[in-house]
Amino acid sequence: MKTTIIAINSQYVHSNLAVNYLKAACGRECGDVLVLEFSINESLKSIFRRIMNEKPDVVAFSCYIWNIEHVVKLAGDIKKADKEIIVIAGGPEVSFESGGLMSGIADYIICGEGEEDLPLILKLLNSGERPCENTIRRLQTHKVTEDLDSLNFPYDSIKPGSLKDRIAYVEASRGCPFRCSYCISPVIGKVRNFDLDWVYRALDILVESEAKVIKFVDRTFNADEQRAHRILTHIKQKYSERRTVFHFEIDPGLLTGNLIDCLSSMPPGLVQIEAGIQSIHEKTLKAVKRVYHVDNALSNLEKLLAGRNIHVHVDLIAGLPYESFSDFAMSFSRVYGLFAHHFQLGFLKILRGSRLKEEAGSHGYRYRDYPPYEVISNNYITADELLEIGGIEACLNLFYNSGRLVSTMKYIYNALKKHEKPECDPFGFYRALARYMRMKGHLDSPVKASKTYFILYKFLEEKFPHLAKEAVEYMRFDYYTSMKNTAVPAFLSKGSVHAGRKTRYKWIAENREKLEKILPRLSEIPLEEIMHQIHASSFKFANETGSMTDCVMAFDFGDICPVTGLARSYRIE
Ligand code: SF4
Repeated sequence: MKTTIIAINSQYVHSNLAVNYLKAACGRECGDVLVLEFSINESLKSIFRRIMNEKPDVVAFSCYIWNIEHVVKLAGDIKKADKEIIVIAGGPEVSFESGGLMSGIADYIICGEGEEDLPLILKLLNSGERPCENTIRRLQTHKVTEDLDSLNFPYDSIKPGSLKDRIAYVEASRGCPFRCSYCISPVIGKVRNFDLDWVYRALDILVESEAKVIKFVDRTFNADEQRAHRILTHIKQKYSERRTVFHFEIDPGLLTGNLIDCLSSMPPGLVQIEAGIQSIHEKTLKAVKRVYHVDNALSNLEKLLAGRNIHVHVDLIAGLPYESFSDFAMSFSRVYGLFAHHFQLGFLKILRGSRLKEEAGSHGYRYRDYPPYEVISNNYITADELLEIGGIEACLNLFYNSGRLVSTMKYIYNALKKHEKPECDPFGFYRALARYMRMKGHLDSPVKASKTYFILYKFLEEKFPHLAKEAVEYMRFDYYTSMKNTAVPAFLSKGSVHAGRKTRYKWIAENREKLEKILPRLSEIPLEEIMHQIHASSFKFANETGSMTDCVMAFDFGDICPVTGLARSYRIE
């Protein structure tokens, strides 16, 4: 008997840890077991062909909100092509409500963690039996593996170099100690830890796989401070010289001084953290049973950001209970003021199996009845208001999260924060920008990176003309730190004597000695190569007294900051 376990990841760069666990759990009695990984960006026809080419007897799908619509179609096609093929579905998207969209399509649905049930069913099928009613009931009972040490190690099949430049996943624990009602982690089970030696062995393999990022899928990595400290110290001692980045989801309100010190001592770029704030309002957080420690969380994040060695990602969720449009605006402006490296604005999803789904009626939730089940409106926020927040999210991604306008956005924030007008706080500013983008037809169409600068400039000219002139200097600075392309847009190159290739060549030749003093490695490389690595421009920035002074900055594309992904810059004149 041949079984294919299918993972359909949300992007090519992602890999799937669950299917490796399942394969490792299946012994010889299960027959031949093969893992096939795809991404949702591949055509269904090609995924279908590759599955069928394997001539499987059993196809087992790992189901999530991002792939369930693909899985439903593929499972239907497989059954039409050969009704004898047995389809098994497992994963969070089918673990509740009798298998959700896979009910009536899959032959067997496994609820909860599958490392015990998948081998159980495959052994039966391989010996020519069909599961009896008791077994089927067992499959549909939500269960977890209590003793994680009893699992087979799933990482051995990952070969050196096989995940080059991709994202690999690892877990040091399962379950979450918290009970947020919009999440299914509390239903999935209590916290269980893997032995630390298991985690360290996994990390060795994943680092050798050359994954560019290793993500810990632990729901709250710092829930156990001592374990978190030990793992981080291990990573620092062992992998500081490697080019892999380690990513953790943390609760910033739980960070202790000890852990902040540990994180702040990490080499730049070795660690990234993702911190969910979700809302700054106590009533909202209490309604979703989320621990309220916003002030602590924000002040701990400020401390981490001050270290400039860790990439910090923060999240807010729109559409939570009791949060009106103006409440959300307050959450947005407060979190924006952190100037984290990435500010993700998400929309609440009413997930199968979550407690909030049961309570949805009491808050008047209307949400999409297909994945990802995003909220459309509730008693506190209208559909139009959430759509407007969607436009603000698009602008946030384009102008802030792209990392192309970091210093311009800080300049605008500082310049506007003295004003009391509603459009001068961060939310008001992005709201006005989103309206402008919609009016100009840019909001729902792709915008080229280089055009982003011009759009922002025109917006400032129209809405905040007193900022436009100085903002151009910051935009030019941002352009030079983020875009290796030296073809600077005309409105940005104005005033710069270093935009053209010839003038830049001349400037580098004349200033080579100064540059080598700051960057000694340049003395080892020819002028032509320096031209590739070093860009330069003149600027007019306000000094501490407010008067404008001229300066020339060099931008080093031979030394990209591992935290921000931007070229380092140096004042030359
Ligand atoms: S949202 Fe995060 S902290 Fe809350 S229960 Fe889910 S995993 Fe735990």
